[in-house]
Amino acid sequence: MTAPVLVITGAASGIGEAAVRLYAERGHRVVAVDVAEEGLARLAGLDGVATLVGDVAAEETNTAAVRLALDQFGRLDAAVLNAGIGGTGPLESPGAIDRLFAVNVRAVALGIRAAVPALRAGGGGASVATASVSGLRDDPGTWDYNATKAAVINLVRANAIAPGLTETAITTTQVANPDLTARIPVHRWATPREQAEVIWFLTSPAASYVTGVTVPVDGGLSAN
Ligand code: NAD
Repeated sequence: MTAPVLVITGAASGIGEAAVRLYAERGHRVVAVDVAEEGLARLAGLDGVATLVGDVAAEETNTAAVRLALDQFGRLDAAVLNAGIGGTGPLESPGAIDRLFAVNVRAVALGIRAAVPALRAGGGGASVATASVSGLRDDPGTWDYNATKAAVINLVRANAIAPGLTETAITTTQVANPDLTARIPVHRWATPREQAEVIWFLTSPAASYVTGVTVPVDGGLSAN
């Protein structure tokens, strides 16, 4: 079989970037999608990686990503809907709330919707969304973000990961907070690569009988 082909969103940084690098290292082919053109440029030289600049909250970005996968690599085997943004604070503004739901929830639905015909044509395929432990249990102060991640978990009967505290651009202001680290049973934050490895598993043949689950990748945080 030819090397599997994936679309990965939120690919220019953090967990998404780690996933693109991991799949490329293992000989898969990836369409890497992000709004951040500069970050995507870092990935453009990797073997088997095509990049697409676009906002995943827009339907055309999702259809263009699938089209690029088919045009450039001839098939699509998995969609990793990972792009996400942090909350803005309780009730900040209707516009901010709409934007949060558009990026964290609507884009996941649009990404899966765009991918399904191509996944079916390839004989099945897989999708993995990046939710959060914040969607599994209440996280004080970020109700809006929590709501979007709970929505992702309940959106479709496909698989998702629920990262715990992971060192990426989204968490730069929190990483030094010892109170947060103390809440994690393994007493440390995750690397983006540790999240990418579980995404890898969920898109692999090893997970062929795993569907409709959300896997916490959180050092025990949600079980605590
Ligand atoms: P990150 O900020 O490093 O990466 C997110 C990427 O998504 C960025 O490259 C950003 O440009 C991109 N993005 C944002 N909005 C977009 C849009 N509208 N269209 C296209 N791309 C867009 O953060 P990360 O931690 O790697 O986040 C990845 C996912 O993991 C997110 O869904 C986030 O909510 C989730 N998550 C992160 C943590 C954590 O501790 N870092 C914990 C739980 C869940």
